[in-house]
Amino acid sequence: MNPRRYLTDPRRPASRLLLILASIIAVVVFCIDALTSLDIAIAVLYVVVVLLTASTGMRRTTVAVAWGCIALTLIAYLASHDTSYFGSALARCLVSMLAVGTTAYLALRNQSSTATLLEQVQLLDLTHDAIVVYDLNNVITFWNRGAEELYGWPARHAIGKTIHDLVQTEFPVPVDVISGSLLSEDRWEGELVQTRSDESLVTVSSRWSLWRDVQGRPLAILATNNDVTQRKQMEAEIMRQQRELRATIDAIPGMVWSSGPDGCVSFINERWSDMGISLVNLRGELWRAVVHPDDVSQLEEAWSGARATSEMFSHVARMRRGDGVYRWLHIRGAPLMDEDGRVLRWYGVNTDIEERKLAEEALERSEAFLARAQGLSHTGSIGMKIPGGEMSWSVEACRIFGYPPGTQPSRQLVMDRIHPEDAGLVHALFERAMRGEPHVDVEHRLLLPDGAQKYVHFVAHAMTSQSGQPEYVGALMDVTESKMTQEALHRSMTELAHATRVTTLGELTASIAHEVSQPISAIVTNGGAALRWMTRDVPDWHEASTSIEAMIRDARRASDIIRRIRTLVQKHDLQHAVLGVNAIVEESIELVRHELQKQRTELAVELSAEPLYVLGDRVQLQQVVINLLINGVQAMAAASGARKTMLVRTSRPDPGHVLVLVRDSGTGITDEDAGRLFNAFFTTKPEGMGMGLSICRSIVEAHGGRIWAESNEEHGATLQFTLPLHPYSGRCTPDDADELSLRME
Ligand code: ADP
Repeated sequence: MNPRRYLTDPRRPASRLLLILASIIAVVVFCIDALTSLDIAIAVLYVVVVLLTASTGMRRTTVAVAWGCIALTLIAYLASHDTSYFGSALARCLVSMLAVGTTAYLALRNQSSTATLLEQVQLLDLTHDAIVVYDLNNVITFWNRGAEELYGWPARHAIGKTIHDLVQTEFPVPVDVISGSLLSEDRWEGELVQTRSDESLVTVSSRWSLWRDVQGRPLAILATNNDVTQRKQMEAEIMRQQRELRATIDAIPGMVWSSGPDGCVSFINERWSDMGISLVNLRGELWRAVVHPDDVSQLEEAWSGARATSEMFSHVARMRRGDGVYRWLHIRGAPLMDEDGRVLRWYGVNTDIEERKLAEEALERSEAFLARAQGLSHTGSIGMKIPGGEMSWSVEACRIFGYPPGTQPSRQLVMDRIHPEDAGLVHALFERAMRGEPHVDVEHRLLLPDGAQKYVHFVAHAMTSQSGQPEYVGALMDVTESKMTQEALHRSMTELAHATRVTTLGELTASIAHEVSQPISAIVTNGGAALRWMTRDVPDWHEASTSIEAMIRDARRASDIIRRIRTLVQKHDLQHAVLGVNAIVEESIELVRHELQKQRTELAVELSAEPLYVLGDRVQLQQVVINLLINGVQAMAAASGARKTMLVRTSRPDPGHVLVLVRDSGTGITDEDAGRLFNAFFTTKPEGMGMGLSICRSIVEAHGGRIWAESNEEHGATLQFTLPLHPYSGRCTPDDADELSLRME
């Protein structure tokens, strides 16, 4: 086979050269033929001219040259043999013409077959495949345009080179194996990696054919190579994407599956192996074996329903793990449809919701517990979103407000149940909540449609919900019962206090009698004196009136003492008023003064110079002071010490409090008794009740104060209590007026 480069373009410079050479030879032959009388057929040499012309491949020129040579042969014959046209000269002329004609004919035939071959080679150039022909020594003999484009070397560079050295072929199998297969089957095909002229690698799909001669001997190898680099890259990319997709599907925290339109599972991801389930377990009807028997029929119904309607599928069922343990799964599936709406495949994912189920059950249980606990503790919960004001409440809260279960709460519904007198309070509470106050705490009343009244205590905190929205979460306690109990307790405490007061007064009878009899005997004495001053011969009216004034003063004093005693004995409800502490202390001392004197007690009273006011009940606070004074007197009576001293002091230990202190030189308090002194029924006295200090503590604490006892360093005890100081506004209350007038006396 001719290499492509030898089938050349006739217009190239070599053709012109051949034509010039042919012309020169033709001229020389003609000259010799025409001008010499050589008896040789010199004109035969025209065949050289014809052959040279024919070798250019120019068909018409060859024909013309052939005819020209014949013409020149004739002309030379006629010119050189003007007399004898016959004989050997004619024979030479004819032979020459015959030779030229035959040569031209043969040359034209050869030219035609060469042209056909050239066309065929050009056809080979048209193909995009790289076609390379090389002999058994791998020397390239043909290199088409496809090869030029693929490898980057032109044919003139490639032809003559050893193919596998030029393109640095990397064989997938040893080259001997390829040669063996080529020789036995005359063909081989496979993929090769070769190097281009720019050093880049190219993967080619190569098909080799062995070309044999007529005797069957191997002549050459024709290799047709296709560049499959891009395809290979794409294949590699597709493979990579497939691997990545598979890895992604396997990494999905769910059991992914796909099935045909008939519902038969054909693919499951790696996660299923965590459950110990393989594709084999799900094929055909086998899936029934892994689903909990109680869930099979429902699941089947739901699955076939979804397939019948081609709608999304969602169902919850238990599936058995490889170890036999059932777990709750949420099974979801979606159809993939073609353009006509026919289901091509189903894709789904099963999610293990065992933990969620357990959490839901636990939540249900704790909700039930909470509801029960709320019912038992009469505490409901209320939530309110800010700023929208959307509310939610628990069953118990709904019950406390007196609405049927399931009623959706609203601000209006809440306000409808608020006691009219507390409506302003609750309204303000809502406003405060809307302003975002972090903590609200209020006690108010509800008035139910049946007229029943409830006391509730509402505490709420502002917090941010999981969705980031601010809201209030609060507890609503029905404190009606405890309120009633408190009130009953308070009543009994008041009654007990009254009883102990009366008892104390009983103990003070002698003192009181003394206190009352003193002014009465003074009245009698002053009355007698007044009479005497008036009945004198010369009545002394001035002295008489002085005595009468003294009588009036004493009578007032007696009546005041009686009034105070009556007040102490009388039962009365709590009456809070602004009271001067010093006056209370002084009045109390008055009532026990006689006792103190009887015991020969040295009493020191240190009242604060500034007036100290508290808000409280006069009778109760007097009871406290009297109790402390009498306890002190009794402790001193029991003590062996010769000197009996008592200090009563009022002071202001800090800007907000009043302190009343009673210090005696009595028995003192043992460490053991210190902790239980204020306990009810604790007494160390043979006839003691042990209620005095207990009631004192209740009274002081009800007034917002604190009472305590401690032993003195030397001897005796100190009992003291504090009360909140009332920010006296300068207004004089009736009690103050009363008390101030007492002090003036
Ligand atoms: P009672 O006077 O009926 O015993 P109290 O509650 O008034 O009941 O007092 C309880 C006890 O506290 C007394 O029995 C006494 O032991 C002790 N106590 C109270 N005041 C003093 C005091 N000033 N000094 C020593 N002990 C006291």
